Amino acid sequence: MEQSASKRPIDIVSLYPKDMNIYGDSGNVLAIERRLSLYGYEPRIHAVNQNDAWPDHADIILGGGGQDTGQKKIIEDLFRRADMLHELADDGVPMLMICGLYQLFGEYFETVDGTKLEGISIIRSYTVGRDVRMIGNLVEHSELFGDIIGYENHSGQTFLREGVAPLGHMDGEGTGNNGEDHTEGALVNHVIGTYMHGSLLPKNPKISDFLIRAAAERRYGEFAPQFTDETREQLAHLDETAARAREVAASRPR
Ligand code: GLN
Repeated sequence: MEQSASKRPIDIVSLYPKDMNIYGDSGNVLAIERRLSLYGYEPRIHAVNQNDAWPDHADIILGGGGQDTGQKKIIEDLFRRADMLHELADDGVPMLMICGLYQLFGEYFETVDGTKLEGISIIRSYTVGRDVRMIGNLVEHSELFGDIIGYENHSGQTFLREGVAPLGHMDGEGTGNNGEDHTEGALVNHVIGTYMHGSLLPKNPKISDFLIRAAAERRYGEFAPQFTDETREQLAHLDETAARAREVAASRPR
């Protein structure tokens, strides 16, 4: 082990926080940071914008949504990092990509004005912009995470290639990937792509735990939370707050 057991850093990359961070997506970084601390790990956050150096370690990578213009700004830089991101994804690094970056982790995004942005194809999907935006709170069902609750706001309709697992399915209101096949998001190895803003993670602690567990197991061989009485209580409080936020969001579908 490279660090003493009590320190146990976990390095979190916040990808393009300047241009890809809308509808509260930076809350995902804060949620992971807080939860890691409560589990007795030492979260280290690295903001990586265009042309920034990549940190020595990347245990969890979090990316947010953005306007079409933001997506156009970061695409070149994303391509320069594409091979490395593929290697990390293949190696099991957990990643959460919301909306605009979910689209660019796919094969391409053709925007509503007809511009075709090539994606880096970590997720085998493609997206086509529509002139009607898809907006509202959303509840979807997932075997791994139970009900996932978030907020969608996008013009792109995403279609998964055959064999790609969606993150969840919807049976109620909401558009999800495309408004046609009742799927939402995608899950490839430990890479999650989703339209769920909100922020997503504060309302969905099971997804935070999935990312944290995968990161800790990959770096340290196991996920071994270490609590004090105080952190145990704080975690229970955090989860109660999440449960209340979930109830409110679920009761206001659109
Ligand atoms: N610009 C993309 C779209 O409208 C992504 C939007 C977002 O990230 N919320 O589909």
